[in-house]
Amino acid sequence: MLERFASPGGVTVWTDPGLAATGVVIAFSERTGGCSSPPFDTLNLATHVGDDPNAVDANRTRLFDSLGIANLRRDLVTAEQVHGERVAIVTSADAGAGALTDGAPPIPATDALLTDRAGLPLLMMYADCVPVILVATHPGRAVGVVHAGWRGALSRLPGKAARLLASHAGCEASDLRAYIGPHIRACCYEVGDEILSHFCNSFDTIRAVDGRLDLTAAVRESLIESGVGEQRTAEVGVCTREHADMLFSYRAAPVTGRHGALAVIAEGE
Ligand SMILES: [Zn+2]
Repeated sequence: MLERFASPGGVTVWTDPGLAATGVVIAFSERTGGCSSPPFDTLNLATHVGDDPNAVDANRTRLFDSLGIANLRRDLVTAEQVHGERVAIVTSADAGAGALTDGAPPIPATDALLTDRAGLPLLMMYADCVPVILVATHPGRAVGVVHAGWRGALSRLPGKAARLLASHAGCEASDLRAYIGPHIRACCYEVGDEILSHFCNSFDTIRAVDGRLDLTAAVRESLIESGVGEQRTAEVGVCTREHADMLFSYRAAPVTGRHGALAVIAEGE
């Protein structure tokens, strides 16, 4: 379902070509094809990490161009991500929130953005945390983007967002498609005993092995228990920590950029 695609300009994304007929566009970006200097090289999409704001704006424009949605660039909606549990329903009044570094501010204190409005691209940013994109196509269309670090995974934010998205789209969670983007995997994610024990107590699929946490399993369990079908869930399956040349990893370098997860209902009914 997810395929890797490199644009002529060097922007590389993972997307689902199977969605083309629905008018929905989704993408997980990598770090190549942008214009930011080290340590944000090169397609850094985040404004809060210390990068040149002009470079961030230009990088976001490059991402939109590579996806064929340049016409929607100024209506981009981003969030002030805080590792919380809040889900925001994005409406036309939010168009352009956080789109440009000197424009309207992003949606405050939110780690999941959902919308059923066409033409509102949702973007969240990551370096090791788990990106989740949710898509409803029938009977109504709706899209969502979730940011889940360990706090978001523990609070089952992906499953909560899936239930809310399904109710907005007038479908069951089992009708949704879910996409899990690149993040730090169990191979590289050492955490303290206290965090690990919270997960072991809360999730059937998590075992305390070597002090490493399997965030992927927690996110999958959260989605499945909310009704999202396992066979309707696709995953990039790349560890950010091990592929810091291709993706941004906070564990690999604390001062770094952010790659993104973007979803939009690009075409009207
Ligand atoms: Zn790894």
